[in-house]
Amino acid sequence: MNPTYGPEADAYRDKVQAFLAEKLPSDWGGIGRLPNDEVKGFVDSWRTVLYEAGYLAPGWPVEYGGAGLSALEQVILAEEFAKAGVPTGGSNDGFGIQMLGNTLLVWGTEEQKKHYLPRILSGEDIWCQGYSEPNAGSDLGSLALRATLDGDVWVLNGQKIWTSAGHLADHIFTLARTDPDAPKHKGISFLLVDMRQPGIEVRPIRMISGESEFNEVFYTDATCPKHEVVGGVNNGWAVAMSLLGYERGASAATTPIRFQGEVDRLFMLAKERGVDKDPVIRQKLAWCYSKVEVMRYLGMRVLTQFLAGHQPGPDAGITKLYWSEYHQVVSELGVDILGADALVPSGRHPSSAFSADDAGAPNSSSSWVDTFLNARAGTIYAGSSQVQRNIIGEMVLGLPKEPKA
Ligand SMILES: Cc1cc2nc3c(=O)[nH]c(=O)nc-3n(C[C@H](O)[C@H](O)[C@H](O)COP(=O)(O)OP(=O)(O)OC[C@H]3O[C@@H](n4cnc5c(N)ncnc54)[C@H](O)[C@@H]3O)c2cc1C
Repeated sequence: MNPTYGPEADAYRDKVQAFLAEKLPSDWGGIGRLPNDEVKGFVDSWRTVLYEAGYLAPGWPVEYGGAGLSALEQVILAEEFAKAGVPTGGSNDGFGIQMLGNTLLVWGTEEQKKHYLPRILSGEDIWCQGYSEPNAGSDLGSLALRATLDGDVWVLNGQKIWTSAGHLADHIFTLARTDPDAPKHKGISFLLVDMRQPGIEVRPIRMISGESEFNEVFYTDATCPKHEVVGGVNNGWAVAMSLLGYERGASAATTPIRFQGEVDRLFMLAKERGVDKDPVIRQKLAWCYSKVEVMRYLGMRVLTQFLAGHQPGPDAGITKLYWSEYHQVVSELGVDILGADALVPSGRHPSSAFSADDAGAPNSSSSWVDTFLNARAGTIYAGSSQVQRNIIGEMVLGLPKEPKA
């Protein structure tokens, strides 16, 4: 672990800070300071600023519209954005840029890269992730959505579920069963499907917070051209797994910064509510503080590996397991401190159902209650805690495999 970056990093950090100072208002205090109804407008215009500066996909080669930054520069950029409390892209860019784009760079044909990568960056194509099904979540290899070749098109029938931001997307990368006779992990293909067709229906699912951030997606004789397969027919499992590495590992640099901001806000809340001298609350606050410190060191370890050229693999699950379980405890403490006010939440809401509330957000009761409710899902999405423990045990620690049921 080497938490110091060296003098060349300082020069690049100055450059990023100058960019942020030039593009953000002088009184900027983080996106959480904006009222809920101004967030979307800001994110849309900020995305355009990043697109024009080439910062939307900092690690992609310049020929595909990226900034071609080194690993160190990417880390510094992400850190400075997190500290400033600004997003690194729009609502679906996690799917389009981090997941699909990075995967296409490894597995896509030259034609697919040239067609899709610029369209992802320009916002012409907006993507979501079609992996989970009602009977295939943790056991993703059991997926049943069927794709059958009919001449030059795949015909798709079946259902996906829990499709985050699917209602905002117009394309869905879809895992489909293309050979039902092959062993289950060997008969799957990774297809690029345009959602703007009558065979695709998106139905929102209402969450415990009252919001609808994810959906069911139904395919009824939906189609996609034969050549829209990534990584070869029946080779979708390998493609899907490399994409999950990007989903689970991308945030090592920024996660500790975000959770540090949240725990600082929790200390303020305890003071505001006059419970900061309560010995039981103090003990819990100290526990949260120490957890965030451990998260910081864990982040440095992942970063050191990343800077040495190691791509995220099964070990990315350690960070995800750690922050998602911590987050349920810290957000419950926030609600405990609010006391009866948590029963009638009011004020600004978090702008997303994932992770901590926005940087700079006020200590409103809605902020803590929504974060508490949303944190329930953190130990489920992107691989449940139990599954992460299996992966870490078997693939990182080399323990014996889980017995087959
Ligand atoms: C907020 C949210 C957003 C999501 N977004 C998306 C998305 O955009 N696209 C997408 O495709 N999916 C998405 N998902 C789905 C997510 O990937 C699945 O919910 C997750 O993989 C778990 O699958 P499941 O819900 O079917 O639960 P199951 O797999 O049915 O698991 C039920 C319980 O059994 C446990 N379990 C299962 N197998 C094992 C095992 N082998 N050993 C020990 N315990 C086990 C699990 O840990 C869990 O507690 C999202 C989910 C959530 C909550």
